[in-house]
Amino acid sequence: MVEASETETARALLRWYAEMGVDEAVGSAPADLYSWARTDPAAAPRIENMRRAERPAEPLPAAEPETVSTDEAIKAAEAAAAACDSFEALEAAVKAFEGCSLKAGTKNTVFADGVPGADLLVIGEAPGRDEDRLGKPFVGRAGQLLDRMLAAIGRDRASNTLISNVIFWRPPANRTPTALETAVCRPFVDRLIELTDPKAVLIAGGAPLQALLGVTGIMRARGVWREIETAGGKRYPALPTYHPAFLLRQPAGKRLAWADLQSLDAKLKDH
Ligand code: URA
Repeated sequence: MVEASETETARALLRWYAEMGVDEAVGSAPADLYSWARTDPAAAPRIENMRRAERPAEPLPAAEPETVSTDEAIKAAEAAAAACDSFEALEAAVKAFEGCSLKAGTKNTVFADGVPGADLLVIGEAPGRDEDRLGKPFVGRAGQLLDRMLAAIGRDRASNTLISNVIFWRPPANRTPTALETAVCRPFVDRLIELTDPKAVLIAGGAPLQALLGVTGIMRARGVWREIETAGGKRYPALPTYHPAFLLRQPAGKRLAWADLQSLDAKLKDH
């Protein structure tokens, strides 16, 4: 009887750790990893990764030099976006666009995933490595947490939600996108919002908050409804919340993120 309840407690604890983003078991006593590597060759690649993680971070690569002026690139993006009358046309236009210098260093354009025309549009920052590899937004660990958060209010990309970013190409070393890169992508983001015509936009994180609303400070801004005004002069209710990658690092923020999701759910159900 006692054993069964301990097993259940251990299972519940494991589920909790998994939910909080823990993905590695670490012992409580110090271990000599280097002697371990000598006796267990299979452990060597893992230890090399740990060594690498201990090295000081490499400096961020400088942004690629602009091939065309940013003004020209923004004008080209505005013209291309304005000419699009459908989600598919916009996706093709973004993929064909050569005005953002980030594109050169990437494998894929990451446009959007989910249901075009959904009443909920989620906008994050920029693709990371997994997103660049697969050509879809929010598919790594942060994306999986985002999916679980959305599922908690009956939302998913297969039936009622569209997910995108303010930047369509992965910045080198996952650095924060520059203001210029954001400005070049913005006409496409505005057109995506207009073509989706959502009842609400969920802004995931500080970078999209600044890009879409010109507001800094996600800690203060989260949970407060605002309006996004697109280039076409349309207005959409927008709710800033924490980025799921932040929640993986700071699980205590999940309580506030949950409050945001409930507010979002109420707005979406409001007639
Ligand atoms: N983080 C983002 O902001 N967007 C993604 O697509 C993935 C991670």
